[in-house]
Amino acid sequence: MGALLRQEVETLPPHRTQVFLAVLEQLRWFAGTQIRNVAAVGGNIMTASPVSDLNPVFMATGCRLTLMDKDGSRVVPMDASFFPGYRRTALRPQEVLVSVEIPFSRASQFVSVFKQSLRREDDVSIVTAAMSVTFAPGTDAVEELRLSYGGVAAVTTLASATAAALLGRRWGEELLEDACSSLAKELTLDPSAPGGMVTYRRTLTLSLFYKFYLTVLQKLHEQGVKADAVRPDCRSAAAVHRPEPPSSIQVFQAVPEGQDRSDAVGRPMMHLSALKQATGEAVYCDDIPLYENELHLALVTSSKAHAHILSIDSAAARRLPGVVCCVFAEDVPGSNATGPVLYDETVFADRQVCFSSSGQSGGSPGLTVPLPLQVTCVGHIIGAVVADTQLHAQRAAKAVRVQYEELPPVVTIQEAIAAQSFYQPIRTLQSGDLEAGFKQADGVLEGEMHMGGQEHFYLETNVTLAVPRGEDGEMELFVSTQSATKTQALVAKALGVPANRVVVRVKRMGGGFGGKETRTTLLSTVVAVAANKLKRPVRCMLDRDEDMLVTGGRHPFYGKYKVGYLASGKVVALDVSYYSNAGNSMDLSLSVMERALFHMENSYRVASVRGRGFLCRTNLPSNTAFRGFGGPQGMMLAEVWITDLALTLDRPAEEVRRLNLYLEGEATPYNQILTHVTLDRCWAECLTRSGYHQRRAAVDLYNRENRWTKRGLAILPTKFGISFTAAFLNQAGALVHIYTDGSVLLTHGGTEMGQGLHTKMVQVASRVLGIPCSKIHISETSTNTVPNTSPTAASASSDLNGAAVQNACEVLVGRLEPYKTRNPKGSWEDWVTAAYFDRVNLSANGFYRTPDLGYDFESNSGRVFNYFSCGVACSEVEVDCLTGAHKNLSSTIVMDVGRSLNPAIDIGQVEGAFMQGLGLFTMEELRYSPQGVLLTRGPGAYKIPGFGDIPSQLTVSLLRDAPNDKAIYASKAVGEPPLFLAAANFFAIKDAVGAARSQEGLRGAFRLDSPASCERIRNACSDRFTRLCPPAEPGTFSPWSVQV
Ligand SMILES: Cc1cc2nc3c(=O)[nH]c(=O)nc-3n(C[C@H](O)[C@H](O)[C@H](O)COP(=O)(O)OP(=O)(O)OC[C@H]3O[C@@H](n4cnc5c(N)ncnc54)[C@H](O)[C@@H]3O)c2cc1C
Repeated sequence: MGALLRQEVETLPPHRTQVFLAVLEQLRWFAGTQIRNVAAVGGNIMTASPVSDLNPVFMATGCRLTLMDKDGSRVVPMDASFFPGYRRTALRPQEVLVSVEIPFSRASQFVSVFKQSLRREDDVSIVTAAMSVTFAPGTDAVEELRLSYGGVAAVTTLASATAAALLGRRWGEELLEDACSSLAKELTLDPSAPGGMVTYRRTLTLSLFYKFYLTVLQKLHEQGVKADAVRPDCRSAAAVHRPEPPSSIQVFQAVPEGQDRSDAVGRPMMHLSALKQATGEAVYCDDIPLYENELHLALVTSSKAHAHILSIDSAAARRLPGVVCCVFAEDVPGSNATGPVLYDETVFADRQVCFSSSGQSGGSPGLTVPLPLQVTCVGHIIGAVVADTQLHAQRAAKAVRVQYEELPPVVTIQEAIAAQSFYQPIRTLQSGDLEAGFKQADGVLEGEMHMGGQEHFYLETNVTLAVPRGEDGEMELFVSTQSATKTQALVAKALGVPANRVVVRVKRMGGGFGGKETRTTLLSTVVAVAANKLKRPVRCMLDRDEDMLVTGGRHPFYGKYKVGYLASGKVVALDVSYYSNAGNSMDLSLSVMERALFHMENSYRVASVRGRGFLCRTNLPSNTAFRGFGGPQGMMLAEVWITDLALTLDRPAEEVRRLNLYLEGEATPYNQILTHVTLDRCWAECLTRSGYHQRRAAVDLYNRENRWTKRGLAILPTKFGISFTAAFLNQAGALVHIYTDGSVLLTHGGTEMGQGLHTKMVQVASRVLGIPCSKIHISETSTNTVPNTSPTAASASSDLNGAAVQNACEVLVGRLEPYKTRNPKGSWEDWVTAAYFDRVNLSANGFYRTPDLGYDFESNSGRVFNYFSCGVACSEVEVDCLTGAHKNLSSTIVMDVGRSLNPAIDIGQVEGAFMQGLGLFTMEELRYSPQGVLLTRGPGAYKIPGFGDIPSQLTVSLLRDAPNDKAIYASKAVGEPPLFLAAANFFAIKDAVGAARSQEGLRGAFRLDSPASCERIRNACSDRFTRLCPPAEPGTFSPWSVQV
């Protein structure tokens, strides 16, 4: 259809093809190329989706449909009667749609289309609209008007009353006023309407009409019908979005002149699996061929957030084709209690056992009273079904009937606070004299914000293949996990065997991001129990919706702050409280909160500080590690109070930030003296590279000249502490074999999840051994080669494993040294062969522990971090105040990664982390019902950034000449630290929203929660349209979704 319409547009006079152009414009943002290639227009009409993008155009422009059945054909107009109800059409049961007649437009007709979605590319609409107006020839008197909207009712709808009221009216300000008042009354939405965003959707109906109004006004002026043109400051409101051609710059320091050619360290070497991953040859867990007698598993999960289970009936499931057995708690041969730190979870839902009061009081053990089976979140694993195929297993899992007795759930942080539902301990980190600090202050500012969670959205969902070895309780598991050792330990615990019977093997993951640090064990233990019960290999790879439902994500945080400041803008006292939504088990929530507290001042020196962290126990799936591990949440609140302070003082935020930046030798709230701080260097370079001050002037000018689109600019720092905060985890091992042909098999404790760890480890080994990378191979990570490994997490894996690899390789170099001395002109192979014949051990293990770590909260003493990775980003955005959409115009990042081991990989990590942060702070929203049901369970509803969200100009510069004496070859950790820098886009958005608000007389600090979604942006840009759509009184309705 697109091709045909384009052809007509090219050949016919413009006034004839207004409707065609509207269809083409809507097709531009209709799904993505792949969907457009397979989806048919007829299918789009007939699915009768209330957010179809084409139906409003067809409806607003009077398209006609030819329908046919065996008795003949008829032509019906696409009008308000065509969709009689949700997902219903006027077609008779036997009828099919044969054709769509799209009319030519008339000389005095104007047509516009609009689409607002969470993400511009490949996303369905929140509200979509098509509007057509026809004027009496040569005048601006409305002769015909059709306003069709999708996303504001159960069907594509026509605002007929508004249109009728405007007939005969002149196209001017009065018409606009009346149209908006009328639309606000006509297109109402129940405050509980499915899809939520009710106030936003209602406001959009008006805002989009205003855009149409401006567009038509301008065209009438151009045609000489109206004397006045659209006011220059309003013109950008009617501009149609055209993506900018992207451009990017990457800057890094070349290796020193004279570095040996075979020495790969510091060179921008391609990720060793890159080509295999691109071609599909790379083998992931589920690519492992099926074992002959292998079975498939599907999970049976709770549909209630908090309930007792009254009965489980699996009889119907067992009768279904292919089903082999069901697995429940009683099938666990070892312990059903599990969890990565505390055993406060179950492999399968279990009875809770409570001790009678005599038992609690410490006297003789009292009676144990068994309670019913209990589930504590939607997605809590109750059991599993094993069958011959995945489809059979999934079908049968759905047939397991579970009867619940529902208990009241705690879903949100606010509900947990009201119920005082907290895990212990409540952490406090305090330094300096807070009272004196506030007394010294010239002013005190208080505020709060909520920051939403985030789904890991790794490309490869959770997967485990468990293969019983048939003797001595041995089991081999192939798992996509960041934590082979934790998997080994928890599987052994569930099976009741020593850890030495369980081997966990990880070749690579299709992404982890922290989501595979602990939560993978939920599935691995279940699959292992099933394999053990059946003595057959069992496999399960979760579908995306199952994965999102079961595994939890980044902790949502709610933070409150009180800052004391001097008139100069210097912050002297800070009191913050963080509340995280931990979910139904402890998991890593305490460590996540601790990291938030360790980052509560971000990069700013504050003399007197108190931070408190509360872990809310709720009935959501347990939240867990996610790139940054609480650091981004901690720093976000810091950037909120510093921004709010700048707004309060009416000073540039850049100035207030700069004034408070840490200096060399200053101490953090946890009494760590900062050395080799590069914040000021990153700041200065970022200011220059981004052209901050020129940009600022240009942004201010733009904002003076544009009422409905605003630009915003922000520059901010990050300082990310490197080390596991649990000191014992800061250790690593490696095992290096040299074979007699000179090839080297390298194994270390870290796992490869796409981040390039294996590539860096090969580079390290290459330097120590003095051989090219091509002679070194890493096959996998496994618990039987390097034991007791820490999870690949905390950005520290290159530091830890790199040093262990270096250690092992140095041992081998030492052993080969005599042969090298004896035969200096010989080759690597010569020395290896000579050593072998001399009966030298050509295998060595290596070990590393980070020195001088260990911190105590009680005394606030000891060293938390080995060092800090710092960076600064400056971002500019443009906000459409009428729709809340924004464009990421430019981002400049300067990151200190020490002396980069591999600049190509490090820049990839910076860019990837930044984009993931962009999702966190500006787009991604997990929506839960008030009953704790996750409503966004896949890419259709949960939007991660697309290509179009990459800043049009993206510059990444790795700080020059910044060696780090604390890590391998002077490098620094890079995986997590840059993620927070995307907050620059959040605060650039806030800057732009602030500009819009000040135009309405709203000055000073204001609350904007994260993510800065189009809904939040629009609602914050308060104006004449938002005032016509006030939100319903909280408490008078049950919302579709709640802020957890
Ligand atoms: C990732 C993704 C993104 C999407 N983005 C958008 C978007 O941006 N905007 C948007 O509007 N939609 C979007 N969609 C929806 C999608 O484009 C439509 O559902 C699609 O156009 C349907 O076309 P189809 O050919 O696949 O229809 P089918 O799935 O084949 O058919 C849909 C229904 O219509 C019936 N049907 C089909 N043809 C006829 C006929 N001739 N007569 C009678 N009944 C018929 C079928 O029996 C079926 O019930 C998106 C979908 C996906 C998966």
